[in-house]
Amino acid sequence: MATLSGGRIGPDPMDMYGAVDELRELLAGADPADGLALAVEELDAPVPRPAAVVAIGLNYAEHARESGFTPPEDLPPVFTKWPSSLTGAHGRVVLPPGSVDWEVEVVAVLGRPLHRADEGEVAAALAGVTVGQDLSEREAQLRGPAPQFGLAKSHPGFAPIGPWVVTLDDAPPLDALSLGCAVDGEVVQDGSTANLLHPIIRAIAELSQVLTFAPGDLVFTGTPDGVGMAADPPRYLRAGQTLTTWVTGVGAMRHELVGESGGPPFAESTLTETLVNDSCQTENPCASL
Ligand code: ZN
Repeated sequence: MATLSGGRIGPDPMDMYGAVDELRELLAGADPADGLALAVEELDAPVPRPAAVVAIGLNYAEHARESGFTPPEDLPPVFTKWPSSLTGAHGRVVLPPGSVDWEVEVVAVLGRPLHRADEGEVAAALAGVTVGQDLSEREAQLRGPAPQFGLAKSHPGFAPIGPWVVTLDDAPPLDALSLGCAVDGEVVQDGSTANLLHPIIRAIAELSQVLTFAPGDLVFTGTPDGVGMAADPPRYLRAGQTLTTWVTGVGAMRHELVGESGGPPFAESTLTETLVNDSCQTENPCASL
């Protein structure tokens, strides 16, 4: 990009998200043969240092129900993942002690500043979408007097995204994206953004009534049903397993899960079914977001 733009954009990937329109024009006139050949496994997170990573919880009705909640009629709960939890679409994720769960999500990437925007302004402001996992350590999330969404979802590597950002004109319609993930090849989540309670554009317009977005900011848009916490019995990721994650027409990710020492798997989950059930029958907002 730095070469193509004569130094006006890049080489820092974050520079691209403030210059999406210019980038699009440059790429339209570019010769693909001038590009750099890279294996997809070599790519780091396509948005390495966003100012904010906003995540929407309970945005699919079936997932809200499996988590023990009536689907919210108003704006779903919103939380943040620390930018330090970002990683790329391929590689290893170190599992901290506890019960680490999967959550495939479509991730929207902002390409312009945005505040109090309508849906048309949001659509024009999106740089594109990418694939994401909102990895979540359920024990810390559920323990204590109030849910610990931010901490429990922000361990290093807990926000894999990528392998690239797909512009809206190259992606399938945002309200018809198929998304899913598999553990060691077994499909555990298989959903569609057609079932979002707050569709992506509308959700960002609603959030922008409060938040001010900057170019490069990320919005994790919620996970469909099929998380491990809601399985009977609950099941969680273990070292030695492989997690594959996809959004059809956008991209796919593959992560090897390892223990903290990088060595043998640590013990099976200690989070009991009783804990999940007891917690989720109450008003305590303990859901897997
Ligand atoms: Zn989530």
